[in-house]
Amino acid sequence: MAPSGSRSIKRSCQTVLYWIPVIFITLIVAWSYYAYVVQLCIESIDNIGQKIVYLLAYHVVFILFTWAYWQTIFTKPMNPLKEFHLSYSDKELLEREDRGESQQEILRRIAKDLPIYTRTMSGAIRFCDRCQLVKPDRCHHCSVCDKCILKMDHHCPWVNNCVGFSNYKFFMLFLAYSLLYCIFITATDLQYFIKFWTNGLPDTQAKFHIMFLFFAASMFSVSLASLFVYHCWLVCKNRSTLEAVRAPAFRHGADKNGFSLGLSKNFRQVFGDEMRYWPFPVYSSLGDGCSFPTCLVNQDPEQPTSPGHNPPPNKTVVGESHQFPAKPLRESQSRLLNSAPSWTENGGAEDKERRGTSNPAMAIENET
Ligand SMILES: [Zn+2]
Ligand SMILES: [Zn+2]
Repeated sequence: MAPSGSRSIKRSCQTVLYWIPVIFITLIVAWSYYAYVVQLCIESIDNIGQKIVYLLAYHVVFILFTWAYWQTIFTKPMNPLKEFHLSYSDKELLEREDRGESQQEILRRIAKDLPIYTRTMSGAIRFCDRCQLVKPDRCHHCSVCDKCILKMDHHCPWVNNCVGFSNYKFFMLFLAYSLLYCIFITATDLQYFIKFWTNGLPDTQAKFHIMFLFFAASMFSVSLASLFVYHCWLVCKNRSTLEAVRAPAFRHGADKNGFSLGLSKNFRQVFGDEMRYWPFPVYSSLGDGCSFPTCLVNQDPEQPTSPGHNPPPNKTVVGESHQFPAKPLRESQSRLLNSAPSWTENGGAEDKERRGTSNPAMAIENET
């Protein structure tokens, strides 16, 4: 359906408004580049060796920072796969039913074939009315993007994008490198900032750039540091910002540590298991964003624990006793899951064919 004229104008105005914070940040960064490179390094530093070292180090940090920022802004958030969307007949069925239990009955039938472990606080299947889909675990509807976003963390106005499964690593690196950028500027600008107050600088316009650069960089350092530390804590705990505010609810109730697999694996879920990719804003997160391993195998009746459903003993996660649930959705790109092949090896091509009809393992699980 084509949007009406006034609605499309409103949408265009909103689009422009949403970009204002990004333009604001870009202008500040562009000015900081000019102030540091031209006014501080080229105009004010006399020692040629110091000039070269400062400029080289600055550009390394600057490139990493702008690269991570670019990736956070322009990586499209991932939306639930088509398996989670209601089919035409299911939509009709759902519309025909009155609200409440009968609708839940339909949703429960659909959710049976999906790797879903979380529920609403009242124990119902999480359903997005707007997108007409059963929400995957950790997925939330973003009112700004007007879409369901996989492992949604928050909608960030400073990047005009949803931070979620597809770009959380980039967002973390953006925080880390922007903090490093500010700390580097503050540290190297400090002696010239002191000279400014002791009248040690020549009376040119450079001295004002040097002063404002120090103020801006040190103030941004403080706010970025607190945000970065908070998100490091979230990564260690395997929680999104939304989950930190409200713990995800499972069959047995809310559990704020439901997705935590231990420090190392929590970190690898976001950054991947190849160390050489960790520092760079290239995609290396593990998993498919629709299904997440949980540590609740012994508490959640939905999670398979009997030998029939367990992966063979050698297929447990390396170094830990947790076993991933055996509800495969699709062959994931995940290397983490390769160490728990119940999702990948069993969940490969064979399973893709079975999906949508019936999966015996799933059927048995859902009888509980
Ligand atoms: Zn939605
Ligand atoms: Zn959003």
